Amino acid sequence: MSLATQINSAASKQFVASLVRSERITPENSPEEVRHMVFRRDDLSFGCKMGQCVRIMAPGQYGNKYHPRLYLVADNDAERDGGVEFAICVKRHSYIDDFNGERYQGIASNYLCDLPVGASVEISGPFGYPFAMPEKRTSNILMIGMGTGIAPFRALIRTIYEKHGSWDGKVRLFYGAKSGLEMLYMNDENKDLSQYVYQPTFKAFQAISPRPALDAPVALDKALEQNAAEVWEMMQNPDTYVYFAGVQDMQASVEKALAATAGSEAAWLEAKDAMQTSGRWNEVLY
Ligand SMILES: Cc1cc2nc3c(=O)[nH]c(=O)nc-3n(C[C@H](O)[C@H](O)[C@H](O)COP(=O)(O)OP(=O)(O)OC[C@H]3O[C@@H](n4cnc5c(N)ncnc54)[C@H](O)[C@@H]3O)c2cc1C
Repeated sequence: MSLATQINSAASKQFVASLVRSERITPENSPEEVRHMVFRRDDLSFGCKMGQCVRIMAPGQYGNKYHPRLYLVADNDAERDGGVEFAICVKRHSYIDDFNGERYQGIASNYLCDLPVGASVEISGPFGYPFAMPEKRTSNILMIGMGTGIAPFRALIRTIYEKHGSWDGKVRLFYGAKSGLEMLYMNDENKDLSQYVYQPTFKAFQAISPRPALDAPVALDKALEQNAAEVWEMMQNPDTYVYFAGVQDMQASVEKALAATAGSEAAWLEAKDAMQTSGRWNEVLY
């Protein structure tokens, strides 16, 4: 069932959660504000997993009751003091109106970023399907993503190294951001994921924009091409799980880079088809 179909058939799934914690995870001198936000629901039957999203029902404008927007789960649900806690990662969004050239604030993301701890929020979901988790700790994990697409990867990396203690297969993260300040969960403000670089099986490859001020594209494709031999070897291994998350805009350049690692478009499509058929290709793009 598609995400849209799930959402349309889920009106009754709405509930209230309260904000437990909200921390800015980009430094103050970064032009982008991104927050890690932890919510609590007093219902032990609630669950949400990495790869899924929750729908925040922000107060609407112009007579609309709600302004609903989706956010990826940044931490698997955890039972705490008789309730369930879960996290999302939110970027404060703004845009320039084409007609008058003025900057406007995105409604839901600003509502969330300004929310005080303790406030109640209407939410529905979860939606989408949880990422498939390898059963064997010798399986390889290849994560490719950008921006707030890091949210499910954070949950995945924490799960394998904290729940399982260690991981024997290769764990590779290719992550793109506009600048080093926006390397979410890996910058000076929040080093959440940096602690795992000491794990012998984990390697993170960071790609930034060559000209962030001019909005030049993040060089995620270059990072993949520079590590083509290992990426392609992993893609061909029937014991590799791939996770791909972030903004839709990156899809074409990433898939082109993956075709280059394969040596041809046909070889890449064949490898992707094998991963999709066996449930080892997990993707959430928006
Ligand atoms: C599956 C999925 C997962 C997502 N996960 C995340 C996540 O983990 N973290 C995250 O930060 N975001 C995520 N998003 C994006 C998020 O859902 C929101 O789209 C984002 O936060 C912006 O919402 P907003 O209400 O702040 O902005 P909005 O107010 O909805 O504005 C968004 C855009 O709408 C246009 N627009 C709105 N009003 C006008 C107007 N009056 N005139 C002209 N144009 C207008 C503009 O182009 C603007 O950029 C996800 C989206 C999807 C689909």
